[in-house]
Order: sequence, then structure tokens, then C-alpha cells
Amino acid sequence: MTAQILLASGNAKKLAELRRVVEAAGITGLEVLGLGDVAPYPEPVEDGATFEENALIKARKAVEMTGLPSLADDSGLAVDALNGMPGVLSARWSGGKGDAANNELLLAQLGDVPDGRRGAAFVSVCALALPRGEETVVRGEWRGTILRDPRGVNGFGYDPLFIPDDEMAAGRSSAELPAEQKDALSHRGKALAQLVPALRKLADRG
Ligand code: IMP
Repeated sequence: MTAQILLASGNAKKLAELRRVVEAAGITGLEVLGLGDVAPYPEPVEDGATFEENALIKARKAVEMTGLPSLADDSGLAVDALNGMPGVLSARWSGGKGDAANNELLLAQLGDVPDGRRGAAFVSVCALALPRGEETVVRGEWRGTILRDPRGVNGFGYDPLFIPDDEMAAGRSSAELPAEQKDALSHRGKALAQLVPALRKLADRG
């Protein structure tokens, strides 16, 4: 029988990424569902103080509402010079005005910060919650530097302001990387890779 897992996210890119991870790991017999594939339920308030808490809030709600093994991710940008902010507030940093306003505000806040102190990390925490109460939480981080002007049109969020350390020599922002290359390097890619053994176990149990 084919096992199922629900990704508790309305983000089509995250769904496609998880499906690519499952396929690339050679896991067969695991169907990855999105929120569009299950009966709608009210999304929980993400009021946790950490990425871990928020990822667990979303995964637990999904398993409670659907009875399916559920995976949720919470992610954001942690800037060294801002003591780890915007962190869990990344999506709402400019008060809900969207990505361009978030980026503008961040650039203004870092206006006087010299090049040597513009380090940051994208962080992704993924939580897998099973109907029997078992939980697995993993974290991936992607270090880089915040630019002074946006660059590139791929990706989303803070991608145009972020030069990954692994791209420093080429000088490409994460919004200038092709999607597959970003997947291979990124915080979310690193977090999802750690879940492969748990996903394989789920598929085997199915
Ligand atoms: P969420 O976990 O999808 O709600 O993402 C939280 C916020 O963190 C996003 O709205 C972006 O502002 C930021 N973020 C998370 N991951 C990325 C990424 O890969 N690139 C750019 N911004 C990101």
C-alpha cells in the first residue's frame, strides 16, 4: 500500500521541492500531498518564539485535522548585526507589506553596517509529526552576506539581498541561482535531506 505524507504548506514551490527530495532519494511508495489535497482547515496562529515551535505548531495541527503523517517547515533570515532578527518575523518584518518592503526595511536598518559585519543565515526547521505522536525536528542553515542593493529575479523573499558563502567567489545572490542549484545548497534543502531516513521509514511502513 502507498503511504501518504501531508506537507502543511500552501506554498507550491515547497511542495515541488519535497517531491524532488523524495524522488532523488529513490523513495518509492510515498505520496506527497499538499493542503489542496485535503479538506480545508483553519491554519493555526504561528505565535512560537522559535522556528522549532512554529514548525511543530503547524505539523501538529495538520496531523490533528487530517490524521495523516504531516510535515511543516518554518523558515526565515537571521541577521548577525540584528541579533538574529528578523528571524521568526521574517515574513512580516515590514508589517505585512510584502517581500519588496521587507527588503527595503532591512537595507535601511543595515545602512551603516560595514561590509565585514553583514553576515546572516537563512534557517529552515522542518517538523514531521506522526499520528501516533512521534515527532522529528531538523534544522538547516545557509550562511551568507547581506548585499547593499537587490540582485536577481529568481526565488522569493530576501533572496535578492543574500550572497551565499558558497557563491561568494562568483558573487551571485540566491536570486541569481537556478532553482536546482538553490535546492542543493539551501537551508531547506539541508533540513529536508536530514528527514530522508524518516521518510523512507514511513514509505516502508505503508
Ligand atoms: P515561510 O516559512 O515560508 O513562512 O517563510 C518565512 C519568510 O522567511 C519568507 O516570507 C521569507 O521572507 C523568508 N525566507 C524563508 N526562506 C527563504 C528563502 O529561501 N529565500 C528568501 N527568503 C526566505
